[in-house]
Amino acid sequence: MHWHENASPEELRAASHVVDHNAAEITCPACGMIFATGPKECPDCGLGLG
Ligand SMILES: [Zn+2]
Repeated sequence: MHWHENASPEELRAASHVVDHNAAEITCPACGMIFATGPKECPDCGLGLG
């Protein structure tokens, strides 16, 4: 899945706002991948979360 090919810059900004950086885990707003905080981008689809 290549999120960036289908998402507008506005959508990418909106997605970044739903990420809770204080949570122990992050659910990727793009693909639903759940992963521990630390990486600044989704390990599955590569969405930047920083
Ligand atoms: Zn993702």
